[in-house]
Amino acid sequence: MKIHVLGSKNVPKHVLETITEGLRNVFPETKFKIETKSLKVPSQAFNQDRQQYLSTIILGEIRKHAEKQRLTIALGVVDVDLYVPQLNFVFGEAECPGKAAVISTFRLNPEIYDRPPNETLLTERCIKEAVHEIGHALGLMHCRNPFCVMHFSNSIYDTDVKQRFFCTKCYSTLVKILEKKEALS
Ligand SMILES: [Zn+2]
Ligand SMILES: [Zn+2]
Repeated sequence: MKIHVLGSKNVPKHVLETITEGLRNVFPETKFKIETKSLKVPSQAFNQDRQQYLSTIILGEIRKHAEKQRLTIALGVVDVDLYVPQLNFVFGEAECPGKAAVISTFRLNPEIYDRPPNETLLTERCIKEAVHEIGHALGLMHCRNPFCVMHFSNSIYDTDVKQRFFCTKCYSTLVKILEKKEALS
């Protein structure tokens, strides 16, 4: 697999590097690369009433990159508050299955919950949500195991409880998906 990580302009490079290292740790067989050009968040994604960005529009932008570069998946990392119409907010979104995934650092940052800055906690949360969205892009659904990375995060509490790894059930599904992908390529 080939996965590119694309940060929007206010996401620091070292944060992208830490996230990518974490992803390599979970997907050791995958080639990861951090894109040097920053991801442009389309202005049409901004919803004036909600003061949030519609993640589906950003996904479209990321998908274009994935197709152009012939990637397995492109993962966008943005710092704006994301939403989808049915929910108050989302930590991220992905095509399921597909080539595009996005996460936002906005609600993963402890400072938004009036906690002191903590980059280790922020990047750990980013890694979990990034693995989760990549899991969706590969075709995995939500898992009921609260410690599995594919567990749905309704709040930051759920993100902190879950681990960055797949439970044995999701892992075996993932292995089957990857074998199929290998056979097709
Ligand atoms: Zn999900
Ligand atoms: Zn699971």
